[in-house]
Amino acid sequence: MSLSEFALIKRYFAPLSQSGDKDAGVVLGIGDDCALLETPADHQLAVSIDTLVEGSHFLPGTHPEYIASRAFGSCLSDLAAMGAKPAWFTLALTLPNIEETWLESFAATLSTLSKEHGIVLVGGDTTKGATLTISIQVHGWVPRGKAIRRDTANVGDRIFITGTLGDSAAGLDQLQRDGKNRFLIGRFNRPTPRIATGLAIREWASACIDVSDGLLQDLGHILQQSGLGAVLDSEHIPMSPALRESYSSDTALQMALAGGEDFELCFCVPEDQIEGFLLALQNHPVRLTEIGYMVKDRGLWLLHADGMKQSVDQLGFQHF
Ligand code: ADP
Ligand code: MG
Repeated sequence: MSLSEFALIKRYFAPLSQSGDKDAGVVLGIGDDCALLETPADHQLAVSIDTLVEGSHFLPGTHPEYIASRAFGSCLSDLAAMGAKPAWFTLALTLPNIEETWLESFAATLSTLSKEHGIVLVGGDTTKGATLTISIQVHGWVPRGKAIRRDTANVGDRIFITGTLGDSAAGLDQLQRDGKNRFLIGRFNRPTPRIATGLAIREWASACIDVSDGLLQDLGHILQQSGLGAVLDSEHIPMSPALRESYSSDTALQMALAGGEDFELCFCVPEDQIEGFLLALQNHPVRLTEIGYMVKDRGLWLLHADGMKQSVDQLGFQHF
């Protein structure tokens, strides 16, 4: 590694390593061969990595603030979906060249988001290469045995979703078509990982996944891994006013059911726990909507306002 690359790490990334929080478990951060980290007693480590490649995952010329937000948002969302508390992250950067203004903006966004979510940068790798590539690996803590998995849903569980669906797909559509809806574009560029919700539902949820590839596909993973089916109420799929106002009701519903990168949480709560769950989360700041329930028969059905029950396999969404 050249001197300028060491200087680059020192200038832009080493500051993110200083959390000042004694409970962060960082014995040794950036600067040695490895970081040394301390996990709290009786906790497990939840680990996930995501990579964004220019040209594949974002358009050349995308503002570094949005690249950082989307890269960080998608992996923090994985921690949220396990009910894990963010602890540490590492960053692997491949840069075609060193552009100070790009690095400044990228690092500033990471700094803001890492403080917001209480997660500390503890290391990484910086290389020169033809294609701008960003990998972020996150580590979170979860009390032993308490992580919310995909394979533990049960018949009769109610299905909930955070926030609203379809905004991110609509935001991307707006960008591609020179659309102007700032709310939708913002939902695509700056996802909001539901960390606080993941922690709040951990005591109640029987299963959870974050919606990165579309609700139907991601709920499909819970169904597959839990060996169950589900019925969703199409009237109850939460959509933002911006989505409803910008698209026909059919297109809006299609985006909400099959659009990717909303990074909302889809989770199950056992029927006999519903009352306690609703009471415990009545002041939760994030909107939680019940959208359906788990059934024994494998498959996924959509219940329409007229009472018609339609198998999702028949809907012909391009996502499948
Ligand atoms: P090594 O040769 O042992 O892999 P490096 O020279 O790659 O070490 O990195 C030196 C130190 O800087 C290490 O502690 C490493 O974790 C850290 N580092 C390198 N690149 C980054 C980065 N992009 N973000 C954060 N830390 C980094
Ligand atoms: Mg290295």
